[in-house]
Amino acid sequence: MAAMSDDHAALLAFDRDHVWHPYSSALTPSDPWLVESAQGVRLRLRDRDGTAREVIDAMSSWWCAVHGYRVPELDAAARDQLDRMSHVMFGGLTHEPAVALARRLLAQAPAGLEHVFLADSGSVSVEVAMKAALQFHLAAGRHRTRFFTIRGGYHGDTFSPMSVTDPVGGMHALFRGVLPEHVFAPRPPAGLDVPPDDPAMVAWERATTDLYAAHAAEVAAVIVEPVLQGAGGMHVYAPHVLDVLHRLAREHGALVIHDEIATGFHRTGPRWAGDRVDTPPDILCVGKALTGGYLTLAAMLCTREVAEGVSRGAAGGLMHGPTFMGNPLACAVASANLDLLAARDTEAEVRRVETGLRDGLAGARDLATVADVRTLGAVGVVQLREPVRVAEVAAAAIARGAWVRPFRDLVYTMPPYVTSDEDLGTLTAALVGAVADVHG
Ligand SMILES: *Cc1c(COP(=O)(O)O)cnc(C)c1O
Repeated sequence: MAAMSDDHAALLAFDRDHVWHPYSSALTPSDPWLVESAQGVRLRLRDRDGTAREVIDAMSSWWCAVHGYRVPELDAAARDQLDRMSHVMFGGLTHEPAVALARRLLAQAPAGLEHVFLADSGSVSVEVAMKAALQFHLAAGRHRTRFFTIRGGYHGDTFSPMSVTDPVGGMHALFRGVLPEHVFAPRPPAGLDVPPDDPAMVAWERATTDLYAAHAAEVAAVIVEPVLQGAGGMHVYAPHVLDVLHRLAREHGALVIHDEIATGFHRTGPRWAGDRVDTPPDILCVGKALTGGYLTLAAMLCTREVAEGVSRGAAGGLMHGPTFMGNPLACAVASANLDLLAARDTEAEVRRVETGLRDGLAGARDLATVADVRTLGAVGVVQLREPVRVAEVAAAAIARGAWVRPFRDLVYTMPPYVTSDEDLGTLTAALVGAVADVHG
């Protein structure tokens, strides 16, 4: 990689001047690290002075790379599919990789889900879910155009998902007049184990029930991330909240959409975070870990009732069809990924990671700047009393051997499930050490 190392300053300079990064400014560009390759749970970075450095990826590339990088089974699936075709259109054509993936997804899905829409990103799958809910009611002659959700959520960056993302986190003020206005219940009390009779929970349930009643006739669907709100603030809440939201939706003829783009495929322990309640959703969105982090792919799954209801409308079908819908390469890798998750004892693996994170992050509680430390499945969160100095914490963690990407007041990790106990030790020590180095 000698040529790469000679060029690395030039690459970074061009990047800084011309390439957008997530939520970045052209005036004060972010200062990204150059990744040369990745293998196992490690990223091979170029340090600021040009020296190569290997760090453990504490982020699984934003929840995706659950088996790490250069996974032999996934590499083989991609190569095999490349030898057949990497893409064909899905309008009027179908292919084995799409059908095989749909079969696997439906076999694993919550009860009652029978139809799959293969979308090209998580945000698009949420768009399609919301569109399906609207079309479902329209087809039955009901003018229901609003969605009901809880504050603190995150559902993606395109306009419909943004409109049900937390009003502050989703920058609703910035886009006032453009974003449709949906109905936001308060954020539920923090903690997986908060009992239904806890005073804070009782108050939440009353406020939410009253708010719902005021809008019941216009609500098409309830949309939530079950049990763990991810990018909206890594907030954990009790399954009772889902029970309440499901009951309100049922009582008032609305659908329930579970957005498991971040939580699906065992990230919180069970395959679906929503498995913690008895009632399945009408619509499920999955993405992120679907291809094991290899390619962009997501899916919207729905019940036969929803699928047929939508199809009875004047439009005659679900009005969506992305160019790269059902991309064969992505589907083939996704099937291999689901097979790999099934072949391994993934639930046990996630329990092991959870123990490693809980033990490794516990020391953060002793830091004066730390407000809370929490873990759920293969997710570990250190919440500060102040905004994280993101660039400094990331640099300090890299110096200690891990890649983390904090946001707001949160330094968090959701490592690959295959991270060894020793690497979990290094990773959590790096995370706690970086917080201590920068915030004291
Ligand atoms: C990441 C995420 C999305 C958006 O997915 P993209 O692939 O980034 O469009 C939607 N919902 C949740 C819960 C997510 O975590």
